[in-house]
Amino acid sequence: MTQGKIGVTTENIFPVIKKFLYSDHEIFLRELVANAVDATQKLKAAANIGEFKGELGDLTIRISVDEQANTLTITDRGIGMTQEEVDKYINQIAFSSAGEFLEKYKDQLNSIIGHFGLGFYSSFMVSKKVEIKTLSWKEGAKAVKWSCDGSPEYTMDEISKSDRGTEITLYLDDESKEFAGASKINELLNKYCKFMPVQIAFGKEQEWKDGKYVDTDKDKIVNDSAPLWAKTPSEITKEEYMDFYRKLYPMQDEPLFYIHLNVDYPFNLTGILYFPKIKDRMEISKNKIQLYFNQMFVTDSVENIVPDFLTLLHGVIDSPDIPLNVSRSYLQSDSNVKKISTYITKKVADRLDEIARTEKESFIEKWDNLKLFIEYGMLSDEKFYEKATKFALFKSVEDKYYGYEEFKAIIEPNQTDKNKKLVYLYTTDPVAQYSYIEEAKNRGYQVLVFDSQLDAHFVNLLESKFKDATFARVDADSIDNLIQKEDREKPVLKGGLERDLGWAFESALPKGAHYHVQVDNLGESASPIVITQSEFMRRYREMSALGGGMNFYGTMPESYTITLNYQNPLITSIINDMEGQTASEVATLENKLNIAEQSLKVIEDKIKDQKPEDVSTADKDEKEKFNKEIEQINDNRKSVMEKFASENTLLHQVVDLALLSNNMLKGKDLSEFIKRSLDILNK
Ligand code: ADP
Repeated sequence: MTQGKIGVTTENIFPVIKKFLYSDHEIFLRELVANAVDATQKLKAAANIGEFKGELGDLTIRISVDEQANTLTITDRGIGMTQEEVDKYINQIAFSSAGEFLEKYKDQLNSIIGHFGLGFYSSFMVSKKVEIKTLSWKEGAKAVKWSCDGSPEYTMDEISKSDRGTEITLYLDDESKEFAGASKINELLNKYCKFMPVQIAFGKEQEWKDGKYVDTDKDKIVNDSAPLWAKTPSEITKEEYMDFYRKLYPMQDEPLFYIHLNVDYPFNLTGILYFPKIKDRMEISKNKIQLYFNQMFVTDSVENIVPDFLTLLHGVIDSPDIPLNVSRSYLQSDSNVKKISTYITKKVADRLDEIARTEKESFIEKWDNLKLFIEYGMLSDEKFYEKATKFALFKSVEDKYYGYEEFKAIIEPNQTDKNKKLVYLYTTDPVAQYSYIEEAKNRGYQVLVFDSQLDAHFVNLLESKFKDATFARVDADSIDNLIQKEDREKPVLKGGLERDLGWAFESALPKGAHYHVQVDNLGESASPIVITQSEFMRRYREMSALGGGMNFYGTMPESYTITLNYQNPLITSIINDMEGQTASEVATLENKLNIAEQSLKVIEDKIKDQKPEDVSTADKDEKEKFNKEIEQINDNRKSVMEKFASENTLLHQVVDLALLSNNMLKGKDLSEFIKRSLDILNK
């Protein structure tokens, strides 16, 4: 028996390993199985070049657990190790690299992807003792048993072992007993080793017998050692792609499309990505892209490796060229990762382009489920945007789909305004904005549907990219103001009338918002009142709600423009009533106002040339008095208008109808409207 001290700088690294990686102890299994796979692959390679002339035999890697003894054993039939090799690779290299690894990464260990490369010594995260029994493939090699209890001392003995290869037994520590349980090991094998390139057996196949499942004597192979992404794309059928998807995500709907990635220069990468049906951003986080390293699972959080919008896709990426022993934040600056990310983006765009051209019908059919992904990509990646403008679609309120160029050609003749700007009209809610859409249709205009979560940002993007074009939501203004064809004549109103109307109508509108009342000619057949919300204000509010960083706009009250249609007989009738009913009061007030204004002017003329500090107190008070008086007269006039409004059924009725068509009439106002309407019908 040999005894010795393993080559570590730290007196005892095991407590350190345990402490740093407390959350991810389970990766030890991947590391050990990966070593077994390596040893097996090396033997196969040696056989291929004729260096190994013996029988390869069954190369299956076997895992077994003993719940009573609290042990876990991993056995391979690979190259094994000679006594010298155990000394070199385990006593010296493995442990000194353990020390180096921890020294180098101890501050960022938890951010290193999948804690890759921890190697053999990660077994001490879960064990109080580890034993290796190994017999090298080399002729005349003697079998050895190595044993270590977690202190830097180990023992090595010659043993008799007839079978080539390595058997590693972990004597699990008290906190890690779960790893002697079959269900836990099944779970971990499924997570980390599902596609490892050598067969792995754990447990037995079961069969249904006498009312229950019983073990057969057939080994259960837990992995698929030749996964689909490693095969040649031209030899794979569509059905196989779909089957593979179901294997990856058993609970998921059929994906829309797939794309097979396959490059070996300037970096090596294979994989299959699937486009899932995406309706809602919320539902996508569950099924993530899985990252593999030569068929070994690394992680399913691929942020920083692929662009954010591509994380909406499903599937696998396998590349030995993604550096895994680095912190996540370093990844983004790695040149290979940048190239890989650019490559994937380009491939995805090319594939979509191809489908849009060759399977146009089905592309259109699937657009609603693809839209969020594509818009997100266009928003976040300039190159993707460029490519996507060739296949991205617009959807109109008639449920028709158009390419960007095609749509532009359709609307150009009719929707170009007098300033030569092309106006794209859109709705975010075809039901709520129905009446505006109808108005637009009456003019022969096309209205697009932009109803997804991203669309507020997306509209901004398109507007900044499209030359000489603007986007306007159908309810942003009256339709003839949205697309101004020629200068229209505005109604000429008597002095003060627009302000009086403002007071009267505002008093009939719901509290809590800002209103700007104006009078305009909207045509005889148009509604008496059109309620609109400025495109600019609304967009900023929406973006701030989406977290666009413009919180200022988010906190402002809603503000609406109320346009009274001067050509509508109901409005002219209200105006006539108002002028008639308030005439005498208005006359009196105007008289008073005249006097007050004249008196104010006298004072102002008097003090006009005086320096502010030379103005006498008496004059100041006098000026103040008349200003107050004018304010008072205006307040009185406002009250007169409000009183008129409160007694005018027609005014309330047209206001409420306008609110109703905007889905803005609620609660008490709504029930009053209903009551008033019934009263009118009963008359
Ligand atoms: P790495 O695998 O990254 O080299 P490890 O610490 O996991 O580091 O392993 C150290 C070395 O021990 C390996 O490079 C290999 O030479 C040897 N080794 C580990 N496990 C086995 C095994 N199952 N069969 C043969 N050799 C092994």
